[in-house]
Amino acid sequence: MVTEKVKDLLLNKMNMIKKPGEQDICLVGPVNLPVQLDDQIVTFQWYTWLKIEDEMSTEDVLNTLSKTNLAAMQQSSVLVYGDFDSENDALIRMHSICHTGDIFGSKRCDCGFQLRESMRMIVAGGCGALFYLANHEGRGIGLFSKSLAYILQQEGFDTVEANLELGFKDDSRSYEDAIRVLSELRAKPVTLITNNPKKLAALKEYGLLSDTHIPLWGDVSEYNKKYLTTKVEKSGHIPAKEEITTI
Ligand SMILES: [Zn+2]
Repeated sequence: MVTEKVKDLLLNKMNMIKKPGEQDICLVGPVNLPVQLDDQIVTFQWYTWLKIEDEMSTEDVLNTLSKTNLAAMQQSSVLVYGDFDSENDALIRMHSICHTGDIFGSKRCDCGFQLRESMRMIVAGGCGALFYLANHEGRGIGLFSKSLAYILQQEGFDTVEANLELGFKDDSRSYEDAIRVLSELRAKPVTLITNNPKKLAALKEYGLLSDTHIPLWGDVSEYNKKYLTTKVEKSGHIPAKEEITTI
C-alpha cells in the first residue's frame, strides 16, 4: 500500500477514462519532459496510459503497482506540445513503435526519421501530439515475429507478403485506445501527420476528429526503397511530394 502522502502527490495526475462496454484506461500526466531536438531543448508534456483489466479506481492502481509486472508489457505514451486543449490547429502523429528504426537507427525502414521529423513538425507548428504506440511493432506482429519477417524480406518477400506468410494479417494495429486518450486531452479537430490516406479514414472510424492530413517523406535510401515502394503500391500510401490533402 502506498502512503497517504504519495497518494496526495499522484492521484490528481491520474485519470480514469471510461467508455461504456470498454475497459477503463488509466491516464497519467502531464509530466514535464525536456527533449533534445536537433540544436534546441524542447519541453513536452508527457502522458502515459494503462488499460485496466478489472473495475479499479486510480487508488487501486497505485496500491497494486508493485505486484503487476508492467515491465513485461509495454505501455504507450504521448508527447504533447503547446496549448493542446485550446489551440485551434494541432498536428497529430500516431507513431508505431519501431525498435530497430527508432532506437537503433536502422535504415531498413523510415520510422526513426519519421519520429524525429514529426516532432520537428509539431514544434514548428506550435501545437500537437506525438503518440508512441507500443503494441504496434512490425505492424502489430511484435518484435520477435518482425525479426522472422525481416529474414523473409531478405529472401525477397515484401513487407506485406512476409507478414501474410507468417500467418498474420497485413496490418494488425489498433488505434482505439490512442484515440480515446486523444479525446480526453483535446475536443477540437486535428491534422494527422501521415502519408497514408487510408490511415486517416481508419482513424476517423474510431472517432478521430480530422479531415486533413499532412505527409512526411524523406530519408529514402537503397536499404528502404523496397519497403517504401511497397507502402505506396500495396498499403495505399501516397507517393512522396504530394501536397496537403483533404479527403
Ligand atoms: Zn520501422
